[in-house]
Amino acid sequence: MQSSETELLKNAFEEFVKASDSLTSYYLVLEERISSLNKEINEKNKELEKAKESFYNILNSLPVGVVVQHGKSTIFTNKEAEKFGWTEFCESLDQAGSAMGEVRNGKGYFRWRKSSLTNGSSGKEVIVFEDVSEIQKMKERSERDEKLRAMGEMAARIAHEIKNPLGSMQLFLSMILRGKMGRKEREYVNSVIFGVNTIDRIINNLLSYTRPKTIALREAGISGIVKETLDFMSVSVGGKDVKIRFSSSYEDRMWFDPDLLKLALMNFISNAFEALSDKGSLDVAVRDEGKWVSIMFADDGVGMDEETRRNIFNPFFTTKDKGVGLGLFIAHNIVKAHDGYIEAESIEGKGSCFTIYLPKGRS
Ligand code: ADP
Ligand code: MG
Repeated sequence: MQSSETELLKNAFEEFVKASDSLTSYYLVLEERISSLNKEINEKNKELEKAKESFYNILNSLPVGVVVQHGKSTIFTNKEAEKFGWTEFCESLDQAGSAMGEVRNGKGYFRWRKSSLTNGSSGKEVIVFEDVSEIQKMKERSERDEKLRAMGEMAARIAHEIKNPLGSMQLFLSMILRGKMGRKEREYVNSVIFGVNTIDRIINNLLSYTRPKTIALREAGISGIVKETLDFMSVSVGGKDVKIRFSSSYEDRMWFDPDLLKLALMNFISNAFEALSDKGSLDVAVRDEGKWVSIMFADDGVGMDEETRRNIFNPFFTTKDKGVGLGLFIAHNIVKAHDGYIEAESIEGKGSCFTIYLPKGRS
């Protein structure tokens, strides 16, 4: 071999070694870069997972129900929405476009709003539910208070007007009765007296309980009073097979008018007995509710439709052949005089639940 060729080959070989060295070091750098990128991706994935988790946590701890739909199928429901079983309701909703409305189910009163998701989520819609049962109940209560106050005032005015001629009738009837008359006539007059006395009793009830003026507050055990009234009333259950259960989680004494309250309680108990068919149950519970004490009457009787439920406290509202329709009106006024309130819930055919709330701090 010529020496110049050898030189060339040597140079070429040296160049090759150099290139291979630099390739190796490039490769090492690349490998390092890849491993750091992998690490970065893993960290990002973890962060993403965490963000996702906290996003779901937030969605699940929201006090509103959230349902996401794609077309007719549900792709996400948060805990609150699951609790109230909203999937079915959402699937029955009209597709496309924003909408809102209110819906009531056995679990409460809800306001819902539907809107389309944007940002590359076309075709997806989010439906949000808010539980407005408490607001609705309060609204209902204040409307009821206002209505009953006006109705009560009118009833009291009419009652006063009726009371005067009624008094004269009673007087003249007793005079007629003192005179001579046949057996038949005496019977007729007695029937008229019976009728007049019934009217008088209703009017007196109406007048004295429309605005119970004198509430005689005493310190007494509320739970004992409820139990006592229940025992007393259970005698008049009228041959029905009624399972009565009583429980109490409040044994303290508090200030109230025991006689007036007993009268209110009697109305709830007799209504429950009347709502039951031959067989049924009545649950009565006294509960400690913080600032309030509640007394609940739950029966599994006939229940009421929504229209009836809205009117039951009105004076003279009754659905019974022999009803007078004053029981709940009187009960409302008695509870109101104690600064309390009543809630009424019912499912037609299933039963009703009345709850009285009385403030503890009254003296
Ligand atoms: P009355 O008992 O004379 O009808 P109330 O004021 O006590 O008058 O009750 C009014 C109406 O409320 C009743 O006629 C009935 O329709 C309804 N109601 C009250 N309590 C119940 C109950 N526990 N279950 C079903 N309906 C009830
Ligand atoms: Mg009644």
